[in-house]
Amino acid sequence: MPLLTSSGNENPSWAIVIHGGAGSDPKNWNEAKTKIREAGLQRALTAGRDALANGRNALDTVELVIRILEDDAAFNAGRGAVLTKEGKVELDASIMDGKTRACGAVASLTATKNPINLARRVMTQTPHVLLAGHGADQFAEQQKVPLVAPDYFLSKARFAENEPHFGTVGCAVLDSHGNLAAGTSTGGTSKKLPGRVGDSPIVGAGTYAANDTCAVSGTGVGEEYIRNSVAYDVAARMRYANQSIEEAVTTIMQQTLQSGVGGIIALSSDGKIVMQHNTPGMSCGAADSSGRFETHLALKDGGSSPNTENTDTETASAANTEISDLLLQQVKDWNQGDIDAFMKPYWNSEQLTFSSGGKVTRGYAKTLKGYKQRYPDAKTMGTLSFEQLEFQTLGKDAMQVLGIWKLARDNQPLEGRFTLVLRRFPDGWKIIHDHTSKTPDEPE
Ligand code: ASP
Repeated sequence: MPLLTSSGNENPSWAIVIHGGAGSDPKNWNEAKTKIREAGLQRALTAGRDALANGRNALDTVELVIRILEDDAAFNAGRGAVLTKEGKVELDASIMDGKTRACGAVASLTATKNPINLARRVMTQTPHVLLAGHGADQFAEQQKVPLVAPDYFLSKARFAENEPHFGTVGCAVLDSHGNLAAGTSTGGTSKKLPGRVGDSPIVGAGTYAANDTCAVSGTGVGEEYIRNSVAYDVAARMRYANQSIEEAVTTIMQQTLQSGVGGIIALSSDGKIVMQHNTPGMSCGAADSSGRFETHLALKDGGSSPNTENTDTETASAANTEISDLLLQQVKDWNQGDIDAFMKPYWNSEQLTFSSGGKVTRGYAKTLKGYKQRYPDAKTMGTLSFEQLEFQTLGKDAMQVLGIWKLARDNQPLEGRFTLVLRRFPDGWKIIHDHTSKTPDEPE
């Protein structure tokens, strides 16, 4: 499944945006919390990206991604849900199909392991839209959606946190068939009154999707999102006032909602992604078919200043495309038996480092020599492919690319992982460090 794409500025054929809740400033988090949040976002976004690249539909992808986040105790949904005043969990979730506007939601669940799965069942297996409380958990049992004992959820006790815990999860997707879907799942607000239901299971407030406009998921003080029909308002502004998706979200974030209330992720039918928050932080991430892949714990100016944020995003996406093209060219050169051409994107410097099998080779000339010794002819070179590329922006002019390389050969196929660090020089991107996983046959 090669994920190399070289599309430039045209609309992406698929796109995904996720959030893991709006709230406190990640600068105040300890390292452990920062790491598990980041890892959780990356894991969910990677799964969503791979599903979409393989042609999965929007609804399945939303359900899959939210389920992963529900199972991750770092987020306030499913396993990691916050507790009510009485120390219990009450879970809410919803899902919506942009193609048909079918939707399903659940509220105040106490025993269902993955509320998003049950919301989907409400949508497909009942004439209703929203099931709540005991009846909803009973419906889960009927549908064989797994139930769990209460102690499964009490994981928040491990993270003794004093802040009102945010960490609701949401996802909006455009699939390669042109369909939109959105979903949201939460444990609600910390120390809520038993029976309190927020915006997450309210279609039009916390979740909305319609193919003619956009897919939306919100996070924040749910009461405000219900009062202002926030998710629906994004679509309505696009539909009736001809606003762009950025204008619609920005107006709501800056004019409708009070500052400090929450965040919105939204995705238009032509693949434009918007992430904004008016809280100090919002865990979020975006990926699309052009190679874009990014996660954040907070956005510069809450993602709201189009000049700076869009430029950053566009720069990152242009960088992904340039580097994808460069790697595609390397694959072509290799497969034509031309090691000199293959080496061109490497930094022609004594400072180039190539690490493999526990050894570090320094300098361009030595690295080239090592390759030529190892692969003296086209037969030993075989057919190269790169797969599952993951781009991580390290700054304006630096990028890390993770991936898998495979060498198909008659006698001994090889494969391994690689990590590349690239730097942008005036004449373009160069690989300044290459680490490949240890295999017996790599160049030294
Ligand atoms: N919106 C959620 C609720 O009010 C909470 C959150 O997003 O943090 O239930």
